[in-house]
Amino acid sequence: MDNSGCRRRRQRVVLFPIPFQGHINPMLQLANILHSNGFSITILHTNFNSSYTSNYPHFTFRPILDNDPKVNNLSKLGSRGAGDILSGVVLLNQYGEESLRQELDQMLMASKQEQEPIVCLITDALWYFTQSVADTLKLPRIVLRTSSLLCFLVFASVPFLDDQGYFKQVNSLFDEEIIDSDLKNIILASDENNFKKAGSSKSVKDLEERVLEIPVLKVKDISKMKIKGQTDPSAKILANMVTQTKASSGIIWNSFKELEEPELEKIHKEFPIPSFLIGPFHKYFPASFSSLLKPDRSFMTWLDEQAPNSVLYISFGSASQMEKQDFMEVAHGLANSKQKFLWVMREGFVKGSEWIEELPDGFLDLVGERGRIVKWAPQQEVLAHRATGAFWTHSGWNSTLESICEGVPMICSPFWGDQPLNARFVSDVLKVGVYLENGWERGEIADTVRSVMVEEEREDIRERAMCLKEKVNVSLMKGGSSYESLGSLVGYISSL
Ligand code: UDP
Repeated sequence: MDNSGCRRRRQRVVLFPIPFQGHINPMLQLANILHSNGFSITILHTNFNSSYTSNYPHFTFRPILDNDPKVNNLSKLGSRGAGDILSGVVLLNQYGEESLRQELDQMLMASKQEQEPIVCLITDALWYFTQSVADTLKLPRIVLRTSSLLCFLVFASVPFLDDQGYFKQVNSLFDEEIIDSDLKNIILASDENNFKKAGSSKSVKDLEERVLEIPVLKVKDISKMKIKGQTDPSAKILANMVTQTKASSGIIWNSFKELEEPELEKIHKEFPIPSFLIGPFHKYFPASFSSLLKPDRSFMTWLDEQAPNSVLYISFGSASQMEKQDFMEVAHGLANSKQKFLWVMREGFVKGSEWIEELPDGFLDLVGERGRIVKWAPQQEVLAHRATGAFWTHSGWNSTLESICEGVPMICSPFWGDQPLNARFVSDVLKVGVYLENGWERGEIADTVRSVMVEEEREDIRERAMCLKEKVNVSLMKGGSSYESLGSLVGYISSL
């Protein structure tokens, strides 16, 4: 979709993604969307995720920040999984300001000489430190939020929900040592006084209760976010993200109006800056170009041979990890379901294991008879395949959107963060999936997999999923909500 032609080719937009797969994909897709609408593109990127740059010869890439020798911890980042990257995000937010300012300053001067003015900086919402840098350089900053509007509203409500007692007895991500304790102290040490102590006097809530203020959610959805309350280090990150998003020149959402209409109304009220819902981004350009891992395609011949809607696709995203005992439940549940499957298992996905060595005896015989296991798949292609009947997902927002776009029903097993919110939204609001909300138990897993895969029983879910797929397509067509919003965004950036 090209709303503009080449008229704006000589305006440059600088984009800065967070180095998680689920954040890189939408940012690079957005970059492609803007490029095809006439803008030149520079991507600022951290060193440890530079593998995909050769797929974008039409962009300029500039490595920044994490090679700064002044920041010791940063030199070690990149190889130890999600917590490691999360640590990097926290540290760069803490220490990155001066380096980014110098970098952007140089780029702004060069762009004037090249007569290709940089018109704005687009950063992931989690790069909250970039707002003050943009302000001092008088460069408008637009925020890309890579998850749902609902999730952002919930994140913005953490202090209020805490005061209402919704976070009692929650384990924090930090308790699980996803982020090390030194870093936790760094986060807590800065402007501590701005954060109220937790300590709601409200009693512990019943986990099955609906959240009065956000009735879409149950109390347990909030607890599964793994935020301990407003004094939790991750709550502090979110609070900064919300404040600096409010201070920005606009928000771009990877969502579409028809999906989240009530939430959009609230966003307009609570965040009175321009909002652009132009998603789903991957419908313009696929995510595989920005994959950090090489997709395995060796199973495609096998998938081609399978009957329509007969294969369960399983992937729990790029960053989640599972305990050994839960992994055993998944494997047994899957075996007992008697359904065909394609299972993405990243190296290191099972805590304390290299790859699939913990699989129960005999399971590998199944793989061959009725399944395949791969380390990374071309997910959008798999979801679009006629043999794929359902998607067992961790409910990351990209995966959720990718499933919605192909009309594929979901089984939702969220781990943390926005995932439990997405899972509830998919199962209770959109009703295009089933939420496995009692954890990992082989009997329930086998029953749920069977019920979603056996067509007669789940025709209702399948019909709604197809209906939603149609809505996506309409929103992207000329006159549709995402199409129009993209036109507004292009006009807005051009006018900055
Ligand atoms: N993905 C992929 N191949 C896989 C698993 C995931 O290409 O085998 C992609 C998927 O298409 C999505 C992204 O990785 O675009 C995962 O993002 P999501 O927001 O769903 O979850 P996260 O990894 O951020 O938890």
